[in-house]
Amino acid sequence: MTSDPEPISPLCLRPIPKGVPQSLHHLVPKLKGGKGGPVVLLHHICHKEIHVRFTEAELARAFNTVEALGQSERMRPFLDWVARRPPDFLSRVPGGRRRR
Ligand SMILES: [Zn+2]
Repeated sequence: MTSDPEPISPLCLRPIPKGVPQSLHHLVPKLKGGKGGPVVLLHHICHKEIHVRFTEAELARAFNTVEALGQSERMRPFLDWVARRPPDFLSRVPGGRRRR
């Protein structure tokens, strides 16, 4: 049995296991000229958070690197929170797995 190394989400720095929802984030939004530009592979949950916290214009102008996103005050609470979740954690909806 071979196991390829799992990719790492450059935003939350957790692995992205196979089968976990994941998506490519355009560092410069496509609508702002980023078509064909650099992309990063993120957990879908992290990707969604970016687009909740920033407008396309803000992403294009000031938050067009993973570093800028990761250091942003707007992302820190989410990143601190998600860092304590398992890599295959999908949502804040409770009731998935029970721990006892
Ligand atoms: Zn992530």
